[in-house]
Formats: sequence, structure tokens, C-alpha cells
Amino acid sequence: MIRTAVSAVWHPFTQMATCLDVPEVVRGEGAMLYLKDGRSVIDCISSWWVNLHGHGHPAIAGAIAAQASTLEHVIFAGFTHEPAERLAHELVSILPSKLKRVFFSDNGSTSVEVAIKMAYQYWQQVGQPERQIIIGFDGGYHGDTLGAMSAGGSSTFWDPFRDLMFPIEVLPFPETWQGDETVEQKEKACLEKLGLILEKNCGRVAAIIIEPLVQGAAGMRMCRPQFLKSLSQICDQANILLIFDEVMTGFGRTGDLFACLKAGIEPDLVCLSKGLTGGFVPMSVTVAAEKIFAAFLGDTTSSAFLHGHSYTANPIGCAAALSSLQLLQEKSSYLAAMEALHKEKFEMYLGDIADINKVRFCGTIMAFEIATTENTGYFNNIGPILKKEFLAQGLLLRPLGNVVYLMLPYCVDNGLLDKVYADMAAVVRKVTNKTDWV
Ligand SMILES: *Cc1c(COP(=O)(O)O)cnc(C)c1O
Repeated sequence: MIRTAVSAVWHPFTQMATCLDVPEVVRGEGAMLYLKDGRSVIDCISSWWVNLHGHGHPAIAGAIAAQASTLEHVIFAGFTHEPAERLAHELVSILPSKLKRVFFSDNGSTSVEVAIKMAYQYWQQVGQPERQIIIGFDGGYHGDTLGAMSAGGSSTFWDPFRDLMFPIEVLPFPETWQGDETVEQKEKACLEKLGLILEKNCGRVAAIIIEPLVQGAAGMRMCRPQFLKSLSQICDQANILLIFDEVMTGFGRTGDLFACLKAGIEPDLVCLSKGLTGGFVPMSVTVAAEKIFAAFLGDTTSSAFLHGHSYTANPIGCAAALSSLQLLQEKSSYLAAMEALHKEKFEMYLGDIADINKVRFCGTIMAFEIATTENTGYFNNIGPILKKEFLAQGLLLRPLGNVVYLMLPYCVDNGLLDKVYADMAAVVRKVTNKTDWV
């Protein structure tokens, strides 16, 4: 309790009553974080999935310093600046060609709010105001603001706020893993349910929102590209907007630059944040298809998209993002090789641990579950035990319930990857050999 008494800070996603020992980080370099008490830890989750090239990367730090002394910020309504123009141009050139217009905001949640509001107003602008229903997925996570919470409606985090949220239709997410023999059934069941929803609400569905290929917060739950293809075809046929929330999957996580590219799909709206600036400053974008942008053109202000934030398109954020994108260009072979490398390391270090199941890989992401007799999910007891043991071993890892995953920055080389796997395996062996905690 002493710590909470001396600190004025209220931490996110944290029960402050029991959070008595918060390590203080004084410096970061590459994959390493250095703590005030002299310890160092390997950042195995890219600091909540934001860091791409390692901490303190000199190129991004330099770009930020140069931009800060040139133009730190300017109002973005009625004014523009080169970093924003260049960044928008670059993003449009690497995304699927259907996505043409870049709307800036500040974080993943707001990029989702923007996408939902654009989709909702779009149907009013094109004379189909009855299209109001949003369809989301079981386990979907799109952020913590009210609209983003609503889109991720099935999470138990939101229980206190239920009455404030707009209702959505929820589809089962056809999660899969290595050796899963039921994946086709799960996909079929999902698409059948979608068919029923569309039948019942003919002409009233506005959009479907999904985290493509990997649901992050739900526990790195992965689906197949084939499934996304079918989903996208149905959206085309039924004239429904498809929103890809790539806040986590963007910028290389899935092995390709974006999940939509990996799956070969052109959604109508894409949300990007987390890795956008390489993990240096908060920024996000919602990238829209031309038809959505065009629907907001007209003679009156009221038909415009009346949304904005004080720091929209902050030039320092844009400069960081441009620098990060440049670094990312040199990483394509690294990113393409990571999935096979993770499979190899998993087999080598963890392949023989009996209490591990549902092993899955997608690009730079590796995840597995610890067999447990309890309910799985975020509130599973083993998560906090593992987290503490990992930290004692020098690893920053935050299991999602009984799901352990790696999401490393792209500066991690083969040698460090071996160390991460060896240390992780040591902890998993120790914890799963004890049975008294279940
Ligand atoms: C983290 C996350 C968000 C929310 O982003 P914030 O920057 O935390 O608001 C939205 N969608 C997905 C898929 C995420 O992983």
C-alpha cells in the first residue's frame, strides 16, 4: 500500500489495491528495458504490441527531434503539412489499391470510432439510412472508448458499461491452431450464422468489423485467410462495408505488411495504430475506400465527416511514422522468415511439454495455451503466476489468461530468440510441474 500512497499515478488495466511493486523503467535499447533497480528485461510483447524496431531506435529518435524543432504541431482543419501529406501518400501506396483516403486520429480506439462513424454516416449519405447494424465477432477487441467497446461487445471487461453501449450482432470467431481438425466446421457455422443474420435484417446491416487473421486481446486467436476470403465475398454480395481493425496486425506482425495483403482482401476501411510510429508516439489512421470518401462530398458542411481531435496528424507522429516505414522496408525478408523460425524454436524448446496445447503461429506471433482445469480466458489464475515468474526470469511477458504468446520487436536476432525461448521454456516447465496452484 505504501507505493500507491506515494504515487499519484492510476495505472491502466490494473487493480491498484494489489499493485504494490511496479518496476520503474529508466531506459530502453533494442529489445531490452533497463529497470531502476539494476535489472534488465527482454521486451517480449513489444510494450503492448506497439514497438517495431526496438526501443530508442536512433533513426526514429532523430526524425522526431528534427521535426520537433521545425514544426511541432499545427491545426489540421484547413491546414496541411508535408509530413502528413507524405505519410498519407506512403500508406496508400502500400495498402491494397482500393484504400485511398487517410483520416488521422490518436490511438487504436479512436481509429475504430472513426471507422464506425464513417460506415454509419456513409449509408445516410447514399440514401440507405436504414443500414445501421454493426456485426462483430465473439472475442473481438477494438479498444476502450464507448463505440469501440460496443464493437467488441462480447468482452466481459465491459460489464459495468453494458447499458451505455450500442448493441451489435455477434458471430463466433473460427479460431484455429496446429492440428485442428474442426476448423472447417467452425468456419461453416460462422458463415451460416452470418447468413441468418443477413436474412433476418435484410438491407439493414451497415458493416462487419473484424481483427483479421489474429484476434489480439482475446488471446492471439487465429483464423485462416480462406475464412476472411469467404467473409469478404459475402460482404460484397450483400453490399456490406468490411472494416479491418489492423491496429495490432498492421506493420508486419502477420509476416506481411498487413493482414489484408496476406489474405489477399481489399476491405472498405482499415484501422491502423500501435506500430504506426514504430512505438514512439501515439497516432492512428483510418484508411477509407474512395467510394466512402466520395459519399461525403457535397455543398454543405453537414454532409462532411464532422470529426476531429486536437492533435490530428501531429507532425512529430507523422515524422516518426515515415522513419519507421522506411526501416520496415528493409525488414521484409526478416518478417517473411519469422513464422518458420518460431516453429523451429517452439519444437526445440517447448515441443515436449505435455501441458501445452493449441499451438499457433502467424508471422511474427507465436501463441500456445497452458492446459488448465479452470475457465480459460483473461481472468484465468495462471496468467498472473506466469507473468511474475517470467519477470523474475528477465522476460516481459503478459499472458492473456492461460495463453502465452510472443510478439517481439523486429530487432531480435537468432541468438536472442534462442535465449527468449530457453528462458520461457524454463518458466513454463517450472509452473506446469507445480500442481498446487490449480
Ligand atoms: C489495442 C487495440 C485497439 C485499441 O488501441 P488503443 O491504442 O489501445 O486505443 C484496437 N483494436 C485492436 C485490434 C487492438 O489490438
